[in-house]
Amino acid sequence: MFRANEAYSRLPGDYLFSGVAARVAAYAEAHPEKASRIVRLGIGDVTQPLAPSVVRALHAAVDEMADARTFHGYAPEAGYGFLREAIVRHDFAPRGAEVHPDEVFVSDGAKSDSANIQEIFASDTRIAVCDPVYPVYLDSNAMAGRAGTYDASTGLWSDVLYLPCTAENGFAPAPPGPDARASLFYLCFPNNPTGAVADRRRLQQWVDYANEHGAVIVYDAAYEAYITDASVPHSIYECDGARTCAIEIRSFSKNAGFTGTRLGYTVVPRDLKDAEGTPLRDLWARRQGTKFNGAPYIVQRAGEAVYSEAGQRETREQVAYYLGNAQVVLEGLRQAGYEASGGTNAPYIWLKVPDGMTSWGFFDHLLEEAQVVGTPGAGFGPAGEGYFRLTAFGSREDAEEAVRRIRAL
Ligand code: PLP
Repeated sequence: MFRANEAYSRLPGDYLFSGVAARVAAYAEAHPEKASRIVRLGIGDVTQPLAPSVVRALHAAVDEMADARTFHGYAPEAGYGFLREAIVRHDFAPRGAEVHPDEVFVSDGAKSDSANIQEIFASDTRIAVCDPVYPVYLDSNAMAGRAGTYDASTGLWSDVLYLPCTAENGFAPAPPGPDARASLFYLCFPNNPTGAVADRRRLQQWVDYANEHGAVIVYDAAYEAYITDASVPHSIYECDGARTCAIEIRSFSKNAGFTGTRLGYTVVPRDLKDAEGTPLRDLWARRQGTKFNGAPYIVQRAGEAVYSEAGQRETREQVAYYLGNAQVVLEGLRQAGYEASGGTNAPYIWLKVPDGMTSWGFFDHLLEEAQVVGTPGAGFGPAGEGYFRLTAFGSREDAEEAVRRIRAL
């Protein structure tokens, strides 16, 4: 009899957002009269339509696909040159960050890349993640059998190093001590779920640490477009020495509303080599060549349009709109007496739940009393207990309404 992958059965419960969605659906079914009142600030999904320049590029690319002379079949698995070059020209060169087009691997998004990147590391690699954390880094390593066993009483995996993100460290932890033994560090700034950023000093500390200890950093910069503070780096390659220790993952989902369109990319610099001198870039190229057949031509043309002058203007307006929502939520929560952070360089607001409540207890309380949906901090890791995440991705009306109801509680 065949045996399923045992590592999957060690995973705790459902994927977090499926769990939240199931609870909201059960509430709506039990209270049909309240269902239409529900304001959803839970999952980090955008709500604004695609920018006009992006839509034009999509239409034009569809027309090309309708004509044998301009039709495109399989895309190059690492992405079309026009997009890889635009990425380097716009996302890295102006910030003095050295990245070459052949180090950019276009994909269908940051979720797949951040889940798949672990495949190019040895199976006994010890990983380190922030706590709380975007669940994909942990779950993907657990599926690969790299996380050990899950202890439901602590919410921790036995073989993972956790870096607690606390109010004391501004939710941006410093590198661990020399005996940490982890060699693959997942960092995400601006952070999901806390909305915290790593300033230049902090990020440089991480790069120096990784170079000194032969570690690698997987830097998830999916929310880079939300940085408003000029002193915060947008790319890890703005730090000295990052080319020998860091992989960076980006997404078009939150800077240009591509959550349903699907586009992202990963940078693996040529200078990043393992203990034997093997360039990770070549392994990732090999991995993608075998397992990925390229992002759609139509979507890559849409991505290119994001970098046009009009595309930049339009997508920045969208980001500014969401950041405006974040301000509404942040200020409203503070006026209601909550301790809240994030929201100024990120689309997430991280709030401390009232004393004596757990974060799932607060989830139920908000859903039942105010019909507002957020995400319990504990769902992102044990250090998230006592916290709650609200997103800025709804409409302005939703943000205002949610705040009004929370203040009335
Ligand atoms: N990385 C982080 C930190 C995220 O929060 C998300 C989505 O919420 C992703 C990656 C996924 O991005 P994409 O839509 O490009 O797969």
